[in-house]
Amino acid sequence: MEKKKVAFFDAKPYDMEIFDKVNRKYGYDIKYFPPRLNALTAYMAKGHDAVCAFVNDKLDADVLDYFYREGIKIVALRSAGYNNVDLKKAYLKVHVARVPAYSPNAVAEHTVALMLSLNRKVHRAYYRTRDNNFSINGFLGFDMAGRTAGVVGTGKIGRTVIGILKGFGMNILAYDSFPDKKYAKQAGIKYAGLENLFRESDIITLHCPLNKETDHLINDAAIKKMKKGVMIINTGRGRLIDTRALIRGLKTNRIGYAGLDVYEEEDKYFFEDFSGQIMNDDTLARLLTFNNVLVTSHQAFFTGEAITNIAETTMCNLDDYFHGRPLKNEICYQCGEKNCRKDKRGRCF
Ligand code: NAD
Repeated sequence: MEKKKVAFFDAKPYDMEIFDKVNRKYGYDIKYFPPRLNALTAYMAKGHDAVCAFVNDKLDADVLDYFYREGIKIVALRSAGYNNVDLKKAYLKVHVARVPAYSPNAVAEHTVALMLSLNRKVHRAYYRTRDNNFSINGFLGFDMAGRTAGVVGTGKIGRTVIGILKGFGMNILAYDSFPDKKYAKQAGIKYAGLENLFRESDIITLHCPLNKETDHLINDAAIKKMKKGVMIINTGRGRLIDTRALIRGLKTNRIGYAGLDVYEEEDKYFFEDFSGQIMNDDTLARLLTFNNVLVTSHQAFFTGEAITNIAETTMCNLDDYFHGRPLKNEICYQCGEKNCRKDKRGRCF
């Protein structure tokens, strides 16, 4: 078979290294493009057979129409999340496959790293001791054991987080729109309504996808219900939190800590070096002024194991498509899963 050409957007040096290594056994002709994919950059894919895209690439109707016209019928996402894809359009035009699981451990462990750093002020202690300041004033933390963690979304990542937090001796309250009672019994956790989870949790951590129901799940009304001094962790997607409401909660001390690996306007800044420039995003700038807020730049997935798995599954998805095998990781335009079942009204469940 002639070497198929893959246009790879938002390419970083670490992507090139790992994909070149994994591609040795597949033999695709990968062209790496540093810019992100959007309606302005989509033309770079002309003459290619496939596109490979990441979390901040925009696969909207214009981009998908363009690919279709250019004969590009497959997009392989290097991510689990797919909120950046106009799925209905994709369903009619091009196949979109994703990497449903690559290492829930990577994201779960980073989630817990944020919790522990914030609780024990490790991010502040690092700077203090480097300045020969060995005072521990202001660094009082709390025992995780015996506290309650509210976990929103008990999929692969949520369950891995729960496993770690159970190891600390924490009580778990979980919320999921599809609660799994068998799992809850096995894991020794309780499902609760969102409202109860908000009221009773000392730490709230978000592991559900971003969709219409979860858009700004954490807003002023939700924050009002939370315990004073609650810790909020988001390694899911930025828009799960209304950032301005979060800032209001931080200013009134209702929120005691926030650990954010994602941010609703992250596509402007995350993954790039702006250290020589002025910050123009006033909301992000304000967030970064709080010493009880820890922001990381969408790096929760970033372990050697995870990016190797991402590259393996992405190349395998492309190979399935080009060899006419079932595209097992294709996204259903309704629910995001390939082999979803539908109820009588055609809704996925
Ligand atoms: P998953 O599909 O295994 O689990 C998601 C869970 O959320 C499922 O149990 C689902 O039933 C539940 N859910 C769906 N809609 C919900 C709603 N409205 N309210 C509550 N729960 C709901 O996914 P996963 O692999 O555990 O990943 C979870 C999310 O983490 C992804 O959607 C993605 O946005 C994010 N993620 C972030 C990173 C990162 O680097 N920060 C990496 C991977 C994934």
